[in-house]
Amino acid sequence: MIIDCHGHYTTAPKALEEWRNKQIAGIQDPSAMPKASELKISDDDIRETIVNNQLRLMKERGNDLTLFSPRASFMAHHIGDFEVSSTWAAICNELCFRVSKLFPEHFVPVAMLPQSPGVDPKTCIPELVKCVEQYGCVGINLNPDPSGGHWTSPPLTDKLWYPIYEKMVEYDIPAMIHVSTSCNACFHTTGAHYLNADTTAFMQCVQGDLFKDFPQLRFLIPHGGGAVPYHWGRFRGLAQEMKKPLLDTHVMNNIFFDTCVYHQPGIDLLNTVIPVKNVLFASEMIGAVRGIDPTTGHYYDDTKRYIDASKILSAEDKQAVFEGNTRRVFPRLDALLKKQGR
Ligand SMILES: [Zn+2]
Repeated sequence: MIIDCHGHYTTAPKALEEWRNKQIAGIQDPSAMPKASELKISDDDIRETIVNNQLRLMKERGNDLTLFSPRASFMAHHIGDFEVSSTWAAICNELCFRVSKLFPEHFVPVAMLPQSPGVDPKTCIPELVKCVEQYGCVGINLNPDPSGGHWTSPPLTDKLWYPIYEKMVEYDIPAMIHVSTSCNACFHTTGAHYLNADTTAFMQCVQGDLFKDFPQLRFLIPHGGGAVPYHWGRFRGLAQEMKKPLLDTHVMNNIFFDTCVYHQPGIDLLNTVIPVKNVLFASEMIGAVRGIDPTTGHYYDDTKRYIDASKILSAEDKQAVFEGNTRRVFPRLDALLKKQGR
């Protein structure tokens, strides 16, 4: 089986964006604030946006299943207050749940959280509980910077985040560490902010001792781990100077990277440096980079090709990256697939 652990509903019906624009307008003018019930999206609307987009490309590329979460850049936790984020997260999570009900063989939901800058992360727990218990979400996306590029929250190792981690351990679900839109002009959203955040989250974990407190906690750092694999020697050296244990035991039982790296040399570097057990297949399709690479004639985000072509990974390694590792890191996915006889 080929499991893509990183997909977003980037193709949601236009009505969703229109509703969100009304909600944003309603922050200034409460009389204009729309009700959640005013958003009407039919099953046929959903089907159309999936069949012609993600599902079409999955079939063309040979991907069987995608872990599917709300559009990351649209989470925009910096907009409005907790109430605004809460209503928005509930709507987006329900849509991904509906996708998973309409295409149970191809999509399994992952939840976004109703984070809001300066608001205690534990306020996200009711939405998290609902998403796991009622929607069957197998993981969450956790935004380490709800301010959108100004980094006003404490590091992920801070005890402020612990209520989320306690719930993750209780449910045995991992979190993908995923920021949203940058509202800082210095950081392009997908070209800088995302990759900065991946690198930052990893270094926060190296600096802290979070996994001593939560040995079962699992973070998935997307986009190939940002700059981490490329600068592996720097991180090892810094950990050594800080008198931390070797990274293998300090963080690598708890941190995983995906394969959203859009060229062969990048994927080869990832697989040269990072142990196979820590790499999970993903494409983030349809996402940030939608074009065709003129040097290969294939889509940049058709990452399965790079794994297939890898001379570093054995057949057994490839199976681990495509399926085995993801089933291990997402035990609720594994249980669901077993129930489906897969
Ligand atoms: Zn993403």
